Amino acid sequence: MERTLENISDGKLYDIEDMVNADTKGCNGCSACCHNVGDLVALTPFDAYEIKSYLDISFDELIGNKITLRENNKVLLPYLKMQGEENRCSFLDAQNRCAIHAHRPNICRLFPLGRVYENNNFKYFLQVGSCLKPTLSPVKVSEWIGIQHYEANKELILIWHQLIKALAFRLKFVFDEKERQDIQNKLINAFYRIEVQEGEDFYAAFARVLPEAKRELGIL
Ligand code: SF4
Ligand code: SF4
Repeated sequence: MERTLENISDGKLYDIEDMVNADTKGCNGCSACCHNVGDLVALTPFDAYEIKSYLDISFDELIGNKITLRENNKVLLPYLKMQGEENRCSFLDAQNRCAIHAHRPNICRLFPLGRVYENNNFKYFLQVGSCLKPTLSPVKVSEWIGIQHYEANKELILIWHQLIKALAFRLKFVFDEKERQDIQNKLINAFYRIEVQEGEDFYAAFARVLPEAKRELGIL
């Protein structure tokens, strides 16, 4: 059957203050949704910043070890790295817990929710049957996601979503390999190696580099 929003969700869209049946009440050693997700969990610049700050390592130290750079629609982005025969996320510890739980990527925070983008906004939907627990309990979406500075985070996600879409469109028409690689490297350099300056948080640093980075990438 074709995967459409109608047949993978409960048919509702949720806002941040809505209640949704998403609470697992603890995963108790299950780590099913942390396997085989290497091509699903792309890190935003904020996700990467959170992880590297928590682990006190550079973005380049994450590459190859914990994350993999891969192309999607010709855009090169960092994704979670899976490893071993079981294709486990490289952040899963021996007890099947996420070693970066409080700093895990935004997409991991959502599960079993997903996002639907529309008109430069997004809402959430419940991926019915995606969690192995037979019964999930009601929880407020904001509590489930548990992200600080929600509005700033949402704004960054929306800007990033638009930027990646625009860049994918631009790269459709770049046929020179070297030029394509040059654009890909500019994206990584501009947004994943941001130096947060004194008095700034990540959101302010992102906003500071955004106009020049877009100009360099050749997108509006
Ligand atoms: S980062 Fe953590 S929550 Fe996300 S897939 Fe890996 S182990 Fe699971
Ligand atoms: S499948 Fe459900 S219970 Fe298992 S780790 Fe994921 S969220 Fe937790």
